[in-house]
This record gives sequence, C-alpha cells and structure tokens, in this order.
Amino acid sequence: MKYYIKTFGCQMNFNDSERLRGILRSMGYEPAQSWEEADLILLNTCTIREKPDQKVYSHLGEYKKIKEKKPTALIGVCGCLAQRMGEELAHKAPVVDLMFSSYNMHQLPELISQAQAGYRAIAILEEPPEDEDKLWDFPTVRDNQFCAYVTVMKGCDKNCTYCVVPKTRGRQRSRGLESILEEVRELVQGGVREVHLLGQNVTAWGQDIGLPFEELLYRVAEVPGVERVRFTTGHPKDMTERIARAMGDIPQICEHIHLPLQAGSDRILGLMDRGYVKEEYLEKVQMLREYVKGITFSTDIIVGFPTETEEDFEETLDVLRRVRFEQVFSFKYSPRPDTPAYSMEGQVKEEVKSERMTRLLELQKSIIGDIARSYQNTEQELLLESYEGGKLMGRTRTNRWASLRGEESLLGKVVRAKVTDSRAFSMECELLEVVR
Ligand code: SF4
Repeated sequence: MKYYIKTFGCQMNFNDSERLRGILRSMGYEPAQSWEEADLILLNTCTIREKPDQKVYSHLGEYKKIKEKKPTALIGVCGCLAQRMGEELAHKAPVVDLMFSSYNMHQLPELISQAQAGYRAIAILEEPPEDEDKLWDFPTVRDNQFCAYVTVMKGCDKNCTYCVVPKTRGRQRSRGLESILEEVRELVQGGVREVHLLGQNVTAWGQDIGLPFEELLYRVAEVPGVERVRFTTGHPKDMTERIARAMGDIPQICEHIHLPLQAGSDRILGLMDRGYVKEEYLEKVQMLREYVKGITFSTDIIVGFPTETEEDFEETLDVLRRVRFEQVFSFKYSPRPDTPAYSMEGQVKEEVKSERMTRLLELQKSIIGDIARSYQNTEQELLLESYEGGKLMGRTRTNRWASLRGEESLLGKVVRAKVTDSRAFSMECELLEVVR
C-alpha cells in the first residue's frame, strides 16, 4: 500500500507529517512518488491565513480524481484547518474519508481501518485525549539525514488576538524531558548532528511541568554526538535572562534566533495582546546580543493589523532599521474566524496593506544587501547537509545557506570555509578544513 502526504504551513506541521510517515511505515505503507499512485492521500493542513484554506479545497478538487481509477483509495485531511472547521469541512468535502488533527495523530491506524471498512472516520476532538503522548512511541521518517526537528510541546497559552493556534492546537502541553532526550539519542545514533527543538512558543516549554526551558537546552546539548542545537519559535515575553545566559554558555547552541515581533507600535502590540512593548523587545535583543556573541535574528511581521496608522507602521520599520534582521517573514493581516481581531473595527484596506508591504520589503532588501556584504571573505563553520552535482550545501551557525565544491564523503561533516561570493540568501564558499 502506498501513501502520499501533502503538507501545508509551519515547521511543526512538517514535523507532524514526518511522524505520520513513521506511523504509516509501521503499518507497512510505502511512500508514493505522486498522489496519482497512492492508496492513501493525506492533506496536513494550515489555517493561519485565508490562502492556505483555499489551497486545501483546490487540492481536494484535484485529488478526488483518484477515486475514478482507484475506488478503494482513501483521502484524509488532518492538521489545523481540520481542527478549526471539523464537521463543517467534512460536510463541504464529501470526498474526504477520514479526518483528524494534531490531537489524535496516534489514532491514524484505527481511523484507516474504519475507512477501509466503509465508514467515514471523522474524528475531530474538542480536547486532546489522555493518551496523546502515545504519538511519541512512533518513529519519524525524515528527508534530512543530519538535521532533525524535534517537537517538544504542543499548543499555546498565549492569546494573541489574530492567532488561531490556541483554537487549533489547544492549550500548552509540554512533552516530558525523558521522552525528548530518548528521541534525541535515537536521532544521534541514526546520524543526526543538529537538533531543532519545535514548539508554537518553545520558550514556554516546561512551565506546565515545573521545569525551566534552559534545563532542556542543557540536557539536549549533553547528549553525546549533538553538534548543534536550534529552537523555534520563541516568544519575546518568555525569552528570559536565564535562557540567554544558557544560549551563551552552551557551545552547541547556534548563534541565531527567530523572535517574532509582529509589529513595532505599542498601541498595535496592545491590540494584538502580545504582552510586550517595542522597548522591551529591543531590550531582549540587546540582552541576547550581550550573552550570545555574534547572534543574528529573524522575525515575523504582520502588516495592516486593524486600525494600523502610518505612524504605527513607521514604528515597525524603525525596529527593522535598529535590529537589522537577517530574515523577515512578513504577512498582510488576514482576518481569521474565531479570533478576537476578526471582528475588530478599523480593518485596513487591502491596497494600503499592499503599499506598506512593498515599503517594508524594500527596506528589508537594502538591509539584507548590507548583511550579505558583511559576510564576504569571512570564515564560517558549516554543517554539510546535502550533496548534488559536485556541490555540498549547508548552513552557517547563523542559519545562512552556503554551498561549496567537494567530495560527497564530506556530507554530515562540520567544516570551516571562506565566503567567496555572498548574496542575499545564499553564499558560495571555499573549503578551508574539515573540523569534525
Ligand atoms: S504565541 Fe504564537 S502561537 Fe501562541 S497565540 Fe501568539 S502567535 Fe499564536
């Protein structure tokens, strides 16, 4: 039997799909090259903005053709849109045979057997089930041999007024420390050298089980063979001095952090219920720069949140000028059902959002140009992750992609390299030496 998984959205959804592949492999399924040859098609959905919702319907429209030539083929929908819409989606998409969400991925085997027996297996739960942690008993099937995502918590206890995550992934549930360390040990035995800890608000890990996040960083870094540690997504409010100190103290922690700002205006940050103001965000950046030498930043920005004025938007641009992010993931505000901001007065016109987005991207383009020039002729440490046509690809500790010419045998190695041609989002390098 063959499966095909189409994944939308964030790294957590991609790591969930890696876990779904592990569940299916343990059931004897193999990956199909394309959806046309699959016996089971799964859409792992996102609903963070309007666009991903639309994509799901268009993909379902395409995939339903499989039933014409293979009536026994099954189509399943999981992930955040499934959790948010539930029965409404099942009603709108009669071609769907099974539905579940991030709450009950571990129930996939029984949902498949129900659907194979001819029942519609729609299992959208109000709350995460007691036995949710059974999920961690299943392996993950990953494409990257040397770098692995490890989900360390689910859900979020924040209430950002534009965000659907607390509704689609529930309240914060930290995964047990021993369960995480066991997975990290297995990954390292399998050849992984870089571990990327994932959570909607990963810096809040442990708050619900009485452990500080920095404890997790130290324990993961202590696992023999762990070369690099990264984590995503931190929340400025939970980025404590103890975490910053640990980041500076632990050699495996890479000098890069994704710290979503969302907006620069204190008034808008208040309406978003982000829990910090512009100066506090800048102080956290300064604190991280003091504890972690050479740290670089990326961030998320929402343009055109309800009632955003030109002055508010100028505050966002001011933070970009002052922090000089290596990467900005910027989005036009997209009203989401079931979120407080959805019914807020003062929704910003689409053309105003677009005009502001253009200005933001122009500013960021000039900042990235300067940053790219600052990497020229520098020496960087790369972990080489992939090989193609005589070229190896890897990332610096500051999370920039780079390529260099070399033997395939260098795959998985940590090397020192000189930057010979630095561009906005990629760098050509020359190998200096193999470090380890
Ligand atoms: S912290 Fe992130 S995931 Fe949580 S509610 Fe805010 S934006 Fe959503």
